[in-house]
Amino acid sequence: MDLNSPGRTLRIGGRPLPVVGPARMYVCGITPYDATHLGHARTFVWADVAARVMRHAGGEVRVCRNVTDVDDVLDQAAHRAGSPYDSFAAVQQFYFERDLEALGVHAVDHQPRAHNHVGEVVALAQGLLASGHAYVRGGAVHFRGGGVPRRAGLDAGRARALLAEYGDAPEDPGREDPFDVALWRPSRPGEPAWPSPWSAGRPGWHAECAAMAMTTFGPALDLHAGGVDLRFPHHAYEAAMAEALTGVRPFSRAWLHVGTVRRDGAKMAKSTGNLVLVSDLVQDHPASAVRFMLLAEPWAREWEYTPGALDRAAADLDRLLTAAGGGRSSPAAEAAVTGALLDDLDVRTALEVAEQEGGRTARLVARILALG
Ligand SMILES: [Zn+2]
Repeated sequence: MDLNSPGRTLRIGGRPLPVVGPARMYVCGITPYDATHLGHARTFVWADVAARVMRHAGGEVRVCRNVTDVDDVLDQAAHRAGSPYDSFAAVQQFYFERDLEALGVHAVDHQPRAHNHVGEVVALAQGLLASGHAYVRGGAVHFRGGGVPRRAGLDAGRARALLAEYGDAPEDPGREDPFDVALWRPSRPGEPAWPSPWSAGRPGWHAECAAMAMTTFGPALDLHAGGVDLRFPHHAYEAAMAEALTGVRPFSRAWLHVGTVRRDGAKMAKSTGNLVLVSDLVQDHPASAVRFMLLAEPWAREWEYTPGALDRAAADLDRLLTAAGGGRSSPAAEAAVTGALLDDLDVRTALEVAEQEGGRTARLVARILALG
């Protein structure tokens, strides 16, 4: 196999990602408390395309997509539904996987659930305490994160605002620095709680992903995927915790931060009330058209969903598949398609070549992108 030879290496953000043996890819998964909307789906479809392109180029990929089933919003949703958090999460997870399967997202190799990895978070916290990267206050363990915003290229004001938005508490007087975050915190009455040396409590969100990623793949990853809104604080702290524990840098060699999905001028989010659910769209359109629509705009860009987008995607997909049924083809066109996809997952160029050439080239693109 000529993996890593020129033209056979995936580039992300312009930088080649050569690997020997299986690539380790961690996809920051969902908090299973609600139905799958296009914002989730776009991230997981693009992560799936990254893995498929690496496999097409002759590489092996191991994909881990976690389930964040220990989380405040999940607890609140389970409470409202009158269910224990774990059975509520399991039911939501079933719907989520049904939706991703419909969208052609390949089954992942590892699917750790946060509640099964509490012991690893305790071990992470103990290791960081031992090396002076964390401290105990009132039953909580805080990670010393003073340098994390700077490394993420953020000024203090922006970092504070983002930490507060994502549920960390920069104003908490129990912290030595506003940019310290919880590895562990005591549970409030009624919340799930696990024993630890510090309190009956629960892991911090960033620590959960760090622990699950390292449990699955060891100290470092080749590619870490997730929505761009997770870049800071979630991924920045996850990486900082892992690097502080192991001394291995970078924690992830490359990041696939998939752009936000917007609708009516705002980020698609439950709190905004502008969700478009995958399960609704597949009622009257083929799921492959939904997948195609999610790939229409390059992964790093924002994408605004408009009501006509799915009809247009269905028509474009029809054209691709029609071209695949006829036309000519050439080895050069097939190489051009592979080259485009390896170059930052340039789906747009690959589709243009496929439509022009038709035949085998179009069938190849449809197969790699799982659109057929
Ligand atoms: Zn994560």
